[in-house]
Amino acid sequence: MVTTRFAPSPTGTLHVGNIRTALHNWMFAKRHGGRFLLRIDDTDGARSEERFVESIRTDLAWLGLVPDGEARQSARFDRYEARFAELVASGRVYPAYETAEELDLKRKVLLGRGLPPVYDRAALALSDAERAAFAAEGRRPHWRFRLDADAIIAWDDLVRGAQRFDPKLLSDPVVRRADGSWLYLLPSVIDDIDMGVSHVVRGEDHVSNTATQLQMFEALGAAAPTFAHEALLTGSEGKLSKRLGSLGIAHFREEGIEPQALVALLARIGTSDPVEPFVDPAPLIAAFDFGRFGRAPARFDEAELAQLNARIVHQLEFDSVADRLPAAMDRAAWNAIRPNLERVDAAADWWRVVEGPIKAVIADDDRAFLAEAARVAETIDWSNPWPALTGALKEVTGRKGRALFLPLRLALTGREHGPDMAALLPLIGRARAIERLSAAS
Ligand code: GLU
Repeated sequence: MVTTRFAPSPTGTLHVGNIRTALHNWMFAKRHGGRFLLRIDDTDGARSEERFVESIRTDLAWLGLVPDGEARQSARFDRYEARFAELVASGRVYPAYETAEELDLKRKVLLGRGLPPVYDRAALALSDAERAAFAAEGRRPHWRFRLDADAIIAWDDLVRGAQRFDPKLLSDPVVRRADGSWLYLLPSVIDDIDMGVSHVVRGEDHVSNTATQLQMFEALGAAAPTFAHEALLTGSEGKLSKRLGSLGIAHFREEGIEPQALVALLARIGTSDPVEPFVDPAPLIAAFDFGRFGRAPARFDEAELAQLNARIVHQLEFDSVADRLPAAMDRAAWNAIRPNLERVDAAADWWRVVEGPIKAVIADDDRAFLAEAARVAETIDWSNPWPALTGALKEVTGRKGRALFLPLRLALTGREHGPDMAALLPLIGRARAIERLSAAS
């Protein structure tokens, strides 16, 4: 059974990079008929906020990424305590007393000698008496996970391929602070074990965490999940931009972006497959494969998103947008106006054109023609008025092409461009059309 999890810290709203990670976790789970879990990483009580938990849930719901379960780290402290105690008992976790300044000094000395700044494990050599002396001084230990320095760490990453780390070049990671609070590393492993997570999908900024976490899985007697570390997103200018870190769902909604556009884009950028406007994510899911992701950063381009969004909007069914349209706008009106839209809320602008009043700027030499148009409009069959009107006017006036169509469009809509007049004119209707043509003459 495939189980993935998206594990955001509720210290802010989701940004486009997190959203992409969530999406890929969801898609991979769906692709394999598995489960997609939401795990709220809220061990940091001071920085986590309930309103961000809410916004994460709302954002995922808007995108259509419905979790099959939700867990909160803050509800699992007892569990972490128990597994931590086991690791302390087996000697895989040990207390260390160095202050931040002492550690910093050690690092500088090693770097100064051209050596990797790996923690020297001095704390492991402390005698009971020395530890007792620290305690008597009021020093409280932080806790490190003791890496097995002889076991080369290796895994086959679904995106990055074969990965290899020499544990001798890694410091024993701190898993718990002196005040008893947890760092992310160990609780995450405990959760992944307890929740049966089969695949961990996250950004490549976590690669070195994975190296140490693999030994934690082993120390806790569990098989490690499979990992997929994705290349990060960059802005369209090709650099890691600050802007990306602040782009969230609120921004996209303001820009009129549909969830399907965001899903279709984020599913494909960074892969060798073309970005395509799928309204239904099923084909994206069916083709989802980490093997198709490259190791180069994926470029996120808002202009590309806007274009894709228009192509999505052109496909949206009336029923899926009705609640966002002016109340009087019906299916026929939506279908007529839809091909002209870049965003759904712009339908209201065209609906105002249909309902009027409109303001049209008419050239003097078109006035007689439009007067004729008003007369013809009284006589034609209104079951399919545009071909009837233009056909009759062509005969009577000899005008054709732009000279025929443009003044009519201008007089009827007040604009030079817009939806297909054959679709728009029936919406404007006989009475309003005759009135507008007369007014323009
Ligand atoms: N809370 C961690 C983060 O947001 C989770 C990383 C992971 O997926 O394991 O970076």
